[in-house]
Amino acid sequence: MFSCWLSQLCRGLSTPTRRTTQLIWSSASRSLVLSSQRRIPELSSFVARTNTCGELRSSHLGQEVTLCGWIQFRRQNIFLVLRDFHGLVQVVIPQDEPAASVKKILCEAPMESVVQVSGTVISRPPGQKNPKMPTGEIEIKVKTAKLLNSCKKLPFEIKDFMKKTEALRLQYRYLDLRSVQMQYNLRLRSQMVMKMREYLCNLHGFVDVETPTLFKRTPGGAKEFVIPSREPGKFYSLPQSPQQFKQLLMVGGLDRYFQVARCYRDEGSRPDRQPEFTQIDIEMSFVDQTGVQSLIEGLLQYSWPSDKGPVVVPFPSMPFAEALASYGTDKPDTRFGMKIVDISDMFRNTEVGFLQDALSKPQGTVKAICIRKGAKYLKRKDIESIRKFAADHFNEEVLPIFLKTNENWNSPVAKFIMEEQGSGLVKLLETQEEDVVLLTAGEHKRACSLMGKLRLECADLLEARGVVLRDPALFSFLWVVDFPLFLPKEENPQELESAHHPFTAPHPSDIHLLYTEPHKVRSQHYDLVLNGNEIGGGSIRIHNSELQHYVLATVLKEDVKLLSHLLQALDYGAPPHGGIALGLDRLMCLVTGAPSIRDVIAFPKSFRGHDLMSNAPDSIPPEELKPYHIQVSWPTDAETEKSSSNHPCRSES
Ligand code: ASP
Repeated sequence: MFSCWLSQLCRGLSTPTRRTTQLIWSSASRSLVLSSQRRIPELSSFVARTNTCGELRSSHLGQEVTLCGWIQFRRQNIFLVLRDFHGLVQVVIPQDEPAASVKKILCEAPMESVVQVSGTVISRPPGQKNPKMPTGEIEIKVKTAKLLNSCKKLPFEIKDFMKKTEALRLQYRYLDLRSVQMQYNLRLRSQMVMKMREYLCNLHGFVDVETPTLFKRTPGGAKEFVIPSREPGKFYSLPQSPQQFKQLLMVGGLDRYFQVARCYRDEGSRPDRQPEFTQIDIEMSFVDQTGVQSLIEGLLQYSWPSDKGPVVVPFPSMPFAEALASYGTDKPDTRFGMKIVDISDMFRNTEVGFLQDALSKPQGTVKAICIRKGAKYLKRKDIESIRKFAADHFNEEVLPIFLKTNENWNSPVAKFIMEEQGSGLVKLLETQEEDVVLLTAGEHKRACSLMGKLRLECADLLEARGVVLRDPALFSFLWVVDFPLFLPKEENPQELESAHHPFTAPHPSDIHLLYTEPHKVRSQHYDLVLNGNEIGGGSIRIHNSELQHYVLATVLKEDVKLLSHLLQALDYGAPPHGGIALGLDRLMCLVTGAPSIRDVIAFPKSFRGHDLMSNAPDSIPPEELKPYHIQVSWPTDAETEKSSSNHPCRSES
């Protein structure tokens, strides 16, 4: 992905490393300029420079300038290339005797030292202009130079970012931040957030309100981080999101709230998760689902970087049931087809054992996906690993059918697939020569979910072999709606839990079912999906205290005392309200094409939730724990080993 990101940035350029770096810097700053606000910001106000390294052109010829930057490289003690966030500029090191001290500073300073130079902007001699460098027509004839700070031997080369491990990057994050991609990611993130604030506050009258970080345990949902207090046995919890506060703000009459909110969930990091992450958190009074969706469509359209193509609104919408049936997931990647097809009816009289078994059960189904030209691109070992995945993770069989020609079923059970089933499949899946059909059987949700995973796996395999299925420049937004309000608990399917959170309102047409068949109630929840990733979710809330009490106490069997403040607030003229939260880190990850959300966060945690730079979390001496009335109960070696082998992601990077 990094190489993909990089190739996007310097598309069409294939020059030596040093040249490439120059071009990357210039194109990064150019695209930032492209997507910046119309008013050009003053980049050198209040500081000890007159200009940035990337902004000087022929129009500045003859000007006296002062620049500050890091030494990118030096050539034959004659030229120095200076870098800041805005670009690169060539500095001519004076060779004459009176300027010997300037020459000494500039020639002796190690790479990545930070220097200040003052001098005149001059034209590069004929034949030495570099048309590919934005500052390539000029250079700086230096008069004075100051070494602001020297740089020790680096743990890795700043420009050579491709070759270092993520653990090393995180350990020296302050150096990694100097890289072109981190600069680009964080600056673009800042610009998008600025545009979002502008849209929400200036164009639509939203109020930015900060809510507490020290809070109390919330029933249900993700695991929360616990913070000891000085009161014996009492703990704060870090909020999973400002959900309760934003609803209470509605009761308080702040009818259009937003916050760039930090949220905390004690779950291991994954490429798209972090123990602490940021949401664009929004709530409105007197709104319905369409109102929230239109607001978000407008917000993304307004804040979208102009060089990433237009955002077309309204976004398409898909009921959850369809997403599950056709894509096997609640976050379908709609950039490509390969949809799941239900072929149960076609196989009612099958002689294939595992299909027969599945269909004899009340919930049994048979599902298929068709991989176009699969026979050409998939290898035997791919099919073997697909079948192993299905067996290991779903305890299900997958039957591959290779279609050399439409009549020739090259499959272990080909002889059992009757003629009419074969031609039915060809018709239903519109199969062609060289396609591969994968079949599985089982309970609807389980079979769909397996097929959904295989669909993505096959897409990755085809793309690894050069087939273009998903256009990397395409941003495919989708609303997923009509979720169930409750789901059976995994550990005890007789009991229900909220599909999202307990404050979600039931679908108006299903309210009566709440008291009779709660598992059938649809919710007023909506998820926003981008290229197969959930980037946001929200709902219309329950604003009636009695209904909220019923859901918590009777359906979910939660301890209502934990939420008595909210239930009480709903009794004091709470307006109808609803909202949404966008996951900013995931959104930025997709916009920048970064391989992980850690690449759009300045100081992220490792997979294990560690800060590899400062070594947090760290131990605290027992006497400092005393005021909190807590003691560490140290695990045995066996327990330590067990907990690290159970950890979702064992490696540090
Ligand atoms: N608080 C929810 C979440 O963090 C989003 C919402 O319902 O607005 O997922």
